[in-house]
Amino acid sequence: MSAWAEIRQVVTDPRAACERLGLLEGSKSQGYAGLSVRCPWHGERNPSCSVTRGQDGTIRAKCFSCDSTGDLWGLTAAVTGEAPASRELLIAGAAIFGLEQLLDTDDRDRALKVPRAARQRLTASSLPPERSYPSPETISAFWGILGPVSESWDAGVYLEDRCIDPVAVSRLDLARAIDDKTELLGGCRWNGMDWNRLTHRIVLPVWDAHGVMASVRGWAVIGDVERLGAPKRLPLSGYSASGLVLANGPALELLRGGGLPDSEIVVVEGEPDFLTWSVRAEESPVFGLGSGWWTQEHANRIPSGCEVVVLTHDDQAGERYANNFEKSLQGRCRVRRRVRL
Ligand SMILES: [Zn+2]
Repeated sequence: MSAWAEIRQVVTDPRAACERLGLLEGSKSQGYAGLSVRCPWHGERNPSCSVTRGQDGTIRAKCFSCDSTGDLWGLTAAVTGEAPASRELLIAGAAIFGLEQLLDTDDRDRALKVPRAARQRLTASSLPPERSYPSPETISAFWGILGPVSESWDAGVYLEDRCIDPVAVSRLDLARAIDDKTELLGGCRWNGMDWNRLTHRIVLPVWDAHGVMASVRGWAVIGDVERLGAPKRLPLSGYSASGLVLANGPALELLRGGGLPDSEIVVVEGEPDFLTWSVRAEESPVFGLGSGWWTQEHANRIPSGCEVVVLTHDDQAGERYANNFEKSLQGRCRVRRRVRL
């Protein structure tokens, strides 16, 4: 068995592993299942990264804010900043978990020399100050310097490949693009890499219950991002991603108290469906949701008597999100569901 596999099989207590990785500060217990820690991938103040024991008995990590996932080594790479599957990562991990004896002689000597403080890149003081969202001024200034997706070569081609017309997206101002020259916000990062490097060049605004642009999300345009292990779509690092939704123009009018809309409200999951439906049904209010995005406060802005169609993926997550959405309207609107193929 390789040292990688051996260490993965020895270090199986989520709490003990997180303690070694310096992830206990700010963490929350999930009982016997494991714990929630501050996500080492996207960096945050409130813990939304769940660390548990998987079915095979080894450690699993999943962040419910940024969707990053990993095993013990993925988590260790995120904390130390060492490249996945690199010799440096193996040495750092063995040192962190006190398992130097499982390494070859050369590596063992190196591991024993790793000073403990240098192993941990993530400390509470390196995190941004506690704020749930950036200031609206910061977000609108950032949005203001972004260019249209229809004039960005990689964002435009990427959307066209997905049958989403970049010209319509720009006309409706649903998303904008960053390029090499864009001065990025500090939060446009994941695991030490910025959105340009990661190719998260499509930027979509997300809105609070009053229709105020409260943050943005980045969407990667190149498959390369999967090689790096990064999620295709990211919230701003260091800020909360929950309580904010994607919304097109007519949907924003609703949030801002515009009254009963002329057409049916469309509710979809995630960025791709949001853009597809916002372009396809431009007169309709369209909301794009992810896990934890829609709040009761958003629901309270929907006028009673609206017609709503919720498009779900044909899976458990889709079912759950449709149920939660319908419950939030408390029977005030007629809600139809359609499974999206
Ligand atoms: Zn995360």
